[in-house]
Amino acid sequence: MKSKKNKMQHLFEENQEAIKTYNINICPKLAVVGIVISIIAIAGSFLHADLRDARVMYCVIGTICLVLYRFSKIEKLCDYALTWIYIEFAALYMLVFYLSVIVAPDRAATSMLILLTIFPITFIDRPMKLIGADFIMFLIHTICAYVYKETAWANLDMINCLVAVVVGCFCGVYVLETKLQNFNLSRLLAYEKETDILTTLGNRRKLVQTIFKIEKGEMAEPDGVMLFDIDFFKQYNDKFGHQAGDICLRAFGMMLKEEDWHAKTTFYRYGGEEFVGFLWDVNEEQLGQIAENIRKKTSQLVLKDGGITTSIGYVFCNDPALASYEKWIGRADKAAYAAKKKGRNCVVAYREEMN
Ligand code: GH3
Ligand code: MG
Ligand code: MG
Repeated sequence: MKSKKNKMQHLFEENQEAIKTYNINICPKLAVVGIVISIIAIAGSFLHADLRDARVMYCVIGTICLVLYRFSKIEKLCDYALTWIYIEFAALYMLVFYLSVIVAPDRAATSMLILLTIFPITFIDRPMKLIGADFIMFLIHTICAYVYKETAWANLDMINCLVAVVVGCFCGVYVLETKLQNFNLSRLLAYEKETDILTTLGNRRKLVQTIFKIEKGEMAEPDGVMLFDIDFFKQYNDKFGHQAGDICLRAFGMMLKEEDWHAKTTFYRYGGEEFVGFLWDVNEEQLGQIAENIRKKTSQLVLKDGGITTSIGYVFCNDPALASYEKWIGRADKAAYAAKKKGRNCVVAYREEMN
């Protein structure tokens, strides 16, 4: 059984994308909170004489949060979301230190308690970093309290803040674990939903989703579409058994996925012994060469019960007017049909007269 630490590490490594997206989303929200707090504090300073001296500080914090809000909305700077979050919190800590130690040294700290409690809960980072950062802020505040406040207040602050750190870190780690488990479940669910269990390629549902994304402009349009149909596969099953057939399909899928075809490719199991491939950044000639390469590699697959061959139809997507990728697949299918008619184990390019 995995130890708790290893399990957490594993969750972090497996869900990096989701963690990054979460922090990118939370970053501008935290900045807005900082801006709103600054505005409330500036307004409050007109009502409460003690807060008047801190107006400059409120403006500085508000400006820092405003700048970080802008940063968090710039695509290139999004990668540093975690850094911006730490800076946002550092700015807020600066504000509450100032309030507790300089503005109101004759009172117990209040805002500091809130910040120490919510800091480890709001965003995602390694637990030790969250706990460490919270504890460092507690230490800095405690030292400043003993220097600038009366000992009685400093004692009280230390006890209250320590309680806030313990509660914040406990809740933070618990919430973190729950978030990571949710990310993991969503990732596994998406994988199971979109993956063909036998070949580990994308399944038909994934293909439909990809087509939808391409047609909505969320993904680049492929330059070529291929359709593969394994030859005489019924006979293969009849001769060697269904299990041998399954091994064969898996080997074919793995080959498509793992070989370097010198182009950006994605392959899907279209159904049964038929597969579809999308290729990007290729010209017509390269597309034909890759198809021929796949045909050759298929016939060279080493399988326990006997080799297989495949008939391949491909189409170069050079007609921007034909925006439907279902139709491009239809054309590749017609070419694959022509390859069957030609005698199988060959590659045929789509031609208009096939339509
Ligand atoms: P052709 O060369 O014309 O393509 O002939 P074929 O026998 O490959 O084509 P046909 O469509 O007659 O048969 C396809 C076979 O693929 C029939 C089916 O049993 C087999 N098949 C489909 N899915 C699977 C699978 O998941 N596992 C196994 N073992 N066989 C499968
Ligand atoms: Mg078939
Ligand atoms: Mg077949």
